[in-house]
This record gives sequence, structure tokens and C-alpha cells, in this order.
Amino acid sequence: MKNVILVAPPAAGKGTQSELLVKEYGYIHISMGDLLREVIASGSEVGKQIKSIIDEGKLVDDDLTIDLIRDKLKAIKGHHYCLDGFPRTIYQAHEFDKVMDELGNEDYVVLYLDLSENKAYERIAGRLICSCGKSYNIFNEELKPKVEGICDNCGKELVKRTDDNAESFKTRYQVVLENFEPIKEFYANKGKLKIIDVDRNVDEIFSDIVKGITND
Ligand code: AMP
Repeated sequence: MKNVILVAPPAAGKGTQSELLVKEYGYIHISMGDLLREVIASGSEVGKQIKSIIDEGKLVDDDLTIDLIRDKLKAIKGHHYCLDGFPRTIYQAHEFDKVMDELGNEDYVVLYLDLSENKAYERIAGRLICSCGKSYNIFNEELKPKVEGICDNCGKELVKRTDDNAESFKTRYQVVLENFEPIKEFYANKGKLKIIDVDRNVDEIFSDIVKGITND
């Protein structure tokens, strides 16, 4: 089984598909957004700076994200992982190569979850999240919570992400357009890239992901 790097625009379903990899194949899910939100929750000065960057839809400092990933991968060494939301810049992709060399060159596949801007915005508009990490979409029958506004997993109240608004979305999608082409090219040249159309139902997408993690 290969390690998975999920590269995708906002709301393409990185979290949902990662959750399936965890449940079905025992992967460890590493979400860069969650790692950053943990720093925010610590209440530190750096956390405050990160929060204002995330709320504006901009990218946080490359070197900070690389340090967070290096620490996390060291902590879970030997386990299969699914990386969600990293790398998001070509610099991060180059640095991540070095981290992989440092920690042992593991087998991986880069899955690009392809979704148009309009579809991504539709999903953002309906997204609700829980503090336990589970994500829902009130406009999608497959992804709706069983009880309105309540997490199926832990019973806590669901909330909207503070960066899920029209203004922040526009910036985040722009950031994607600027950064993802070089990242895709970088991994395509290494023969690591697979593109997956995610304007389909969750099971169809997952079945393509499973092919990606098992095929050579
Ligand atoms: P996500 O939960 O993946 O949607 O990420 C939420 C926000 O965290 C993004 O809009 C960025 O502001 C920040 N972020 C997540 N991953 C990265 C990354 N690899 N590099 C820089 N900023 C990131």
C-alpha cells in the first residue's frame, strides 16, 4: 500500500476520502489544516498569526508547514499515511522530497482531486464541521448529518468554518490556480501523479483512489 498525498482545491473532499482510507485501510490521516488549527487552539502568538492568515484564505509560511510535517512524520514513522493539504506550493513539494529522503524514501502516490471552481463553491456553501474533525455537507444527501446540526460521531454541535465564506473562498481558489499547476507538473514528471474527477459520488471516487494506492 502506498502513502497518499492528496492535492486538491478547497472542498474537493480531501477530508471525506481520507476518513475512508483510515477506516478501510488503516491509514493515518495527516491534515495540514488540522495541524495548523491545533497550533491556533494552543492560543500561542504564532497561533494568532496563523488564524488571521487562514481566515483571509491565504497560505501560512512554507517553512512552518514543513516543520509541522517533518515532526508528524517522525512521530508516525513506519505507518501508512494520507497527507491532506500538503504540499500547497512548489517550494513545499521540493522540501517535502528532502523530508522523505531524510526519513527513508517511502512509496507514495499523488492524487489530484479535480473539481471546478463553481462546484467547489457550492460545496463550501453547504459545509459544516465538528471539532472532532468530521465534515458534513447539508446540500448532499450522502454527507448530511443524521440529525440537523449535530455530529453523527460524537453528538457535538456542528459549526461553519470561519474561512468558509465567499471572500476567503475566492482567495483560496486563486491560490490553488497559481500553485497547483507547477505541483502537478513536478509529480507528473516523477510518474507519481494521478488525476481523479471528484464531481461524482463518494464511493466512485474512493474506488479510483483505491486503484491509485494499489497499482504500480
Ligand atoms: P484546509 O483545512 O486544508 O482547507 O486548510 C485551511 C487553511 O490552512 C488554508 O486555506 C491555508 O490558509 C492553511 N493551509 C493548509 N495547508 C497549508 C499548506 N500546505 N501551506 C500553507 N497554508 C496551508
